Amino acid sequence: MADAVADLLRFIDASPTPYHAAREAGARLSKAGFRELRAEDVWKLSPGDTRYVVRGGSLVAFVAGAAPPAAAGFRWVGAHTDSPNLRVKPRPDVTAHGCRQIAVEPYGGLLLHTWLDRDLSLAGRVSVAGAQGPRSLLVAFERPLLRIPSLAIHLQRESERKSLELNAQQHLVPVVGLADGRQLTALVAAELRERGIAEVDPRDVLAFDLMAHDADPARLVGSEGELISAPRLDNLASCHAAVSALVRASSAPNAASRTLGIVLYDHEEVGSRSAQGAAGPLLGEALARIVEALEDGGPQGLSRAVARSRLVSADVAHAVHPNYADRHEPGHRPLLGKGPVLKVNAAQSYATDGEVAAEITALCRARGLEPQQFVVRSDLPCGSTIGPITAARVGLRTVDIGSPVLAMHSCRELAAAADVEPMIDLLAAFFEG
Ligand SMILES: [Zn+2]
Repeated sequence: MADAVADLLRFIDASPTPYHAAREAGARLSKAGFRELRAEDVWKLSPGDTRYVVRGGSLVAFVAGAAPPAAAGFRWVGAHTDSPNLRVKPRPDVTAHGCRQIAVEPYGGLLLHTWLDRDLSLAGRVSVAGAQGPRSLLVAFERPLLRIPSLAIHLQRESERKSLELNAQQHLVPVVGLADGRQLTALVAAELRERGIAEVDPRDVLAFDLMAHDADPARLVGSEGELISAPRLDNLASCHAAVSALVRASSAPNAASRTLGIVLYDHEEVGSRSAQGAAGPLLGEALARIVEALEDGGPQGLSRAVARSRLVSADVAHAVHPNYADRHEPGHRPLLGKGPVLKVNAAQSYATDGEVAAEITALCRARGLEPQQFVVRSDLPCGSTIGPITAARVGLRTVDIGSPVLAMHSCRELAAAADVEPMIDLLAAFFEG
């Protein structure tokens, strides 16, 4: 297996939640020499400095350029850490008809049926009581814990079998054991204790942000092992490519003149409107602080820097489905294994325009790659990304690209191993160019 593919599978397995994804990205950057900044502190920067800052499930990281941003601009890559899933409700313990269950709420646009009959686990952030006030801990059970069983075929009417309709409140409550099992806070406290994370009592668990995820690890499938079967490819595949490309850029012998960076946002799947989402101030504030820390006080530094900058919004793209090829616009049918896809939408669900598309196309061709093209059929709704939201919020010229996948928003998605390295290469080329 190619190194980059094995590395992506490890990244996905280490990132069952946005909090874990931000932590894993930070750990990889630390290993490459990046130092963590705190939002609360004054940022003091010199050219060549490599830094990152984490905010919940979001992360910003950068390599300070040799030239002031007002003179050289930024090259930034954005992606999102969250994926559609099932989030545990605040008072989740339910017992019904001999089973213990956990009440959950859908997060983002799930393909609900893909969560049935699958071994699921739980992970997330837990806030526990401490002497100095509540403190946050990350926890992942890392073993099958939950299951949402289908209704047996003999108990369904003919019409129900033909078109499965799932009620998110009624039909998606996972079973966690038999009725005499432990409450969720007891399970969490025991897990924290057994993993050596904290010695807490169930009563010390004050609140949590826990979510269900596919317990099956990411793996290669297919006759030649050429396909990636994994949860959360949307959009951990792009987060992984962004981190990998930035680490590569940071190890270049000479610091680039431009400041290079990545932003990995939480909350994309629910509209990005949060303190750490793409509609929030995270990136705009970081750019302003970098300009201020690196400039010698030139006038209108941030606006001049933004005018010289580009953002690549990296998110997965719809590969053409062999059983549903008619769902794609003719001439715009991205194939698995054929590399990065440029995404265009006239209504600005993607931020790409002809000028920035031309820049990416030229970059691809210089490396012997021909970008694939996606535009949605005129009679279907279009997905969206952090691209247009970030562009509108910060003013960066933006292009939307992504690796092709099938079954987007399924509990488990499908991609091609051959697409992993070209995306990292393209983002690294964007940072160089
Ligand atoms: Zn996405």
